[in-house]
Amino acid sequence: MEKPAILGGEPIFSEGVPITIPTLPKLDIDLIKHLDNMFSMGSLTNGRYVRELEEKMADYLGGKHAIAVSSCTSGLMLAIKALGLSGEVILPSFTFSATAHVLVWNGITPVFVDCDPQEYNLDPELIESSITDQTSGIIAVYTFGNPPRMQALEEIAARNKLKLIFDAAHGFGSTYKDQRPGGFGDVEVFSMSPTKLLVAGEGGIVATNDDELARNIRIGRNYGNPGNYDCEFAGLNARMEEFNAYLASASLENLEGFVQRRNQLVRSYKKMLAGLPGISFQDITDGCRSSYKDFSILIDKKAFGLDRNKLYEALLAENIETKRYFYPPVHCQQAYHHLRDRYDGKLTATDYVAENILCLPLYSHMKEEKVLQITLAVKRIYEFREQIR
Ligand SMILES: *Cc1c(COP(=O)(O)O)cnc(C)c1O
Repeated sequence: MEKPAILGGEPIFSEGVPITIPTLPKLDIDLIKHLDNMFSMGSLTNGRYVRELEEKMADYLGGKHAIAVSSCTSGLMLAIKALGLSGEVILPSFTFSATAHVLVWNGITPVFVDCDPQEYNLDPELIESSITDQTSGIIAVYTFGNPPRMQALEEIAARNKLKLIFDAAHGFGSTYKDQRPGGFGDVEVFSMSPTKLLVAGEGGIVATNDDELARNIRIGRNYGNPGNYDCEFAGLNARMEEFNAYLASASLENLEGFVQRRNQLVRSYKKMLAGLPGISFQDITDGCRSSYKDFSILIDKKAFGLDRNKLYEALLAENIETKRYFYPPVHCQQAYHHLRDRYDGKLTATDYVAENILCLPLYSHMKEEKVLQITLAVKRIYEFREQIR
């Protein structure tokens, strides 16, 4: 085996392989025609294309209503406000920062609960011991596309009279026991930013079965204005642009293909990495399908012979970009330093997974050949672990 690039060998890739690339529709005459429509109607935001997207989403997703917003972050901010949450809300720390930020913007204290060490989702069994008389809700996340344990979460929320919100930023294409997301809990909020499967550019979808909530999200994305400029509450400008809605509709048509392809690529990754000591994979919730927004490996540094950071560096030398998602976990980020003492040493699974996880390149039009070469890079780094260390 040739020396890995970190030891002076030839890099496996001559050009950088990014962690992900959005899969976009062709820049063709069809797209120009739609742009021409938008221009000639003079309608650039919250018009026909947004309405069409919402109809398609309501058909596709499991919920009754689908409301397009400017991002998953703004959708979560509005949903939390419209549900009237206050005090404390329980959420995982092993997530993207925005899951917690949306609480802070609503004057709510985030209460971090540990994740399951195999599934990486909020561990339902640890929730109830963190509930206080201040707790008003729970936010669970589809970590990397893995559906949360819905039944357990819904039972806990009902038993304790808490609102249940899903940060489904990674949820497009996931299924929970053959059911599509969009109808679980009180509300589910999806992201369509460029690193997700379904891409609008920037954009989000709020999905719910609750008529009143749906109405308030619609008003809330428009400053809180019900149409007569007599604002019912302090809303946001969280409208979606027409062009973004067009992109999202085009992406939705291909979504099933994207998810199947990602699942196929992940099977290849796993097959080719199987047998390498010290590498394990995320467990997917029983009977569920992950969208594989991200494909992660967990490095046991003793068994693998190198730690996650060294593997990250060695892969970068091979021109392979990987990401330490989610590191640092939210409770360790500067913005949450004031809460840090409360969690010191308490979120053991979160700390362990965050320190040892690495996401490998994955996108919906990636070729099998790339998987082969990336796994080859990992294998030769492993073979030369003594010298690299
Ligand atoms: C991307 C992401 C968000 C934020 O989505 P935006 O559409 O960029 O606002 C929220 N939560 C998670 C888990 C994410 O990965």
